[in-house]
Amino acid sequence: MLAHTRRRALVETARSLNRTGLNQGTSGNISLRLENGFYITPSALAYERYRPADIVEMDMDGRVVVGTRKPSSEWRLHRDIYIHRNRAGAVLHVHPPWCTTLACLELSIPPYHYMVAIGGGDSIACAPYALFGTAELSANVLAALDNDRCACLLAHHGMVCFSSDLRSVVALAIEVENLARVYVQALQAGEKVPLLTREEMKQVGKQFAAYRSAEQGE
Ligand code: 13P
Ligand code: ZN
Repeated sequence: MLAHTRRRALVETARSLNRTGLNQGTSGNISLRLENGFYITPSALAYERYRPADIVEMDMDGRVVVGTRKPSSEWRLHRDIYIHRNRAGAVLHVHPPWCTTLACLELSIPPYHYMVAIGGGDSIACAPYALFGTAELSANVLAALDNDRCACLLAHHGMVCFSSDLRSVVALAIEVENLARVYVQALQAGEKVPLLTREEMKQVGKQFAAYRSAEQGE
C-alpha cells in the first residue's frame, strides 16, 4: 500500500471513531505497523482536523522519521505493543464511555458473556493506573495483555486494543465497548452477575478459532 493511502486510511479510521461514539475531542490515538516502524496520529489535534500529512512516521526506537506534527503522547505504548506482540498490525487507544466507566471503578470485565473471549482470554483486564504517555503505563498495559490477550482497560483512563489491521481493530473496540456497556447494565440490576467457568471459556476460545478461520475462508 502506498504511503499516502496508508496515511489516509489512518485519518479515515480516526474520523470513524467519532461517528461510532468510541471517542471524542482529541482523546485517543491510532497507529498502523510499517516494515520498520509505524504510522501514528498526531498529538492534541481533533480528529476532524486530521489531514494525511499530519500522520507521523516513527521508527521502533521512538524517533520521528517523517512528519512535522508531534506524535501522539502514547507513541511508546503503541511502539511497545508492536515490539512485544507480533500479531499487532494496528493499535487503537480510546476513551469510550462504558469502558471508561469500568476503568474509573478499576474493574476488569469478567467472563459474564461468552464474547469476553474476543479479548483473547477469559477476562478483559484493567491495567493499574499510571500517568498517560509514560513507560510505566506502557508496562502496565503489556502486563494486562499477557497470554495472547488483545484488549484491556486502563484504570482512570480508557481502553487499548490491537489487531491485524485497522478495520478489525475498530471492530474489536466496538465489541469491547459493547461488552463494557452490557456489564455495567448487568451490575446496575443489583444482582450478583453470574460468570461462565474457566472450562466454558476455554471451549469458547476453541470455537472462536474455528469461527475465525471460517470467516477468513481458510
Ligand atoms: P494524544 O492527543 O497525544 O494522542 O493523547 C490523547 C490521549 O488519549 C492520551 O492518553
Ligand atoms: Zn488516553
